[in-house]
Amino acid sequence: MSAMPSAVSIREVGPRDGLQNEDPVPTEAKVRLLDALTATGVGRIEAVSFVHPKAIPQMADADEVWKAASKNPQVRYSALVPNSRGAQRALDAGFTEIEVVVSASDTHNRRNLNRSTDESLDDIAALIDLLHNAGARAEVIVATSFGCPYEGDVDPARVASIIDRVVADGADRVAFGDTTGMATPPRVVAVVSRVRERHPDLPILLHFHNTRGTALANVYAALQLGVTEFDASVGGLGGCPYAPGASGNVATEEVVHMLHDMGIETGVDLAALLDAARLAQEIVGRELPSGVLRAGPRLPDMR
Ligand code: MG
Repeated sequence: MSAMPSAVSIREVGPRDGLQNEDPVPTEAKVRLLDALTATGVGRIEAVSFVHPKAIPQMADADEVWKAASKNPQVRYSALVPNSRGAQRALDAGFTEIEVVVSASDTHNRRNLNRSTDESLDDIAALIDLLHNAGARAEVIVATSFGCPYEGDVDPARVASIIDRVVADGADRVAFGDTTGMATPPRVVAVVSRVRERHPDLPILLHFHNTRGTALANVYAALQLGVTEFDASVGGLGGCPYAPGASGNVATEEVVHMLHDMGIETGVDLAALLDAARLAQEIVGRELPSGVLRAGPRLPDMR
């Protein structure tokens, strides 16, 4: 086993990616969840997205949610945006870390964003300039990096060439999304090692879904490559839009629980995180797909 990192940075995506894929919940409940997550000690939270309310009614109140949330200066909050209009709203709301998505699969990009991957990359180049001119940082998330529900396998070389393009256009950081849970450890190694070879200093983050039960194995594989940044969603909030009833985002407490038992620090208080997971479950009114939430930690007093 190669050397593991001693610390990992978790970005909690439940308030955005999680709630965006659940039935709409009241503004007040979103604020309570955000505040509960801020209290866990997690270093980063993807708080909201600024999207058209007709496209995504779940995020129509993003401004109100963000205004009402208690912000801790120790936490890095970010927002997801689909275009420059959304980016301007995020900047106006005070965000300085902003994410934008493109799909490695052209078919998925067309279904999701109504344009080709190349057209999206042109938009993203302009968007990065807009963010930089406002003093904000831009992260490009490459969806379907490990497989596409329409096209099947996605060539890691294609993912790498998208990264080449966005790095040339000024992206400060990149993320790889396993949008429908098609990643397995060798596919993670194939994508990450290829990108690492070409951009050794580029900050990269991995976003896994547990749709087919491989998320923690993928985290483990990525740790062995020295990756130290992961997205996760409290309780596993947010289903899979392509497979009704299936789980989506890997549960934050499952990742934190495993990392802590491996001696890897996250800064998260597991007990507080489980409180937030129970709140998330209450807010959406359904049982969330998190093993650690259901069974508790392997030792009851484990932090
Ligand atoms: Mg997700």
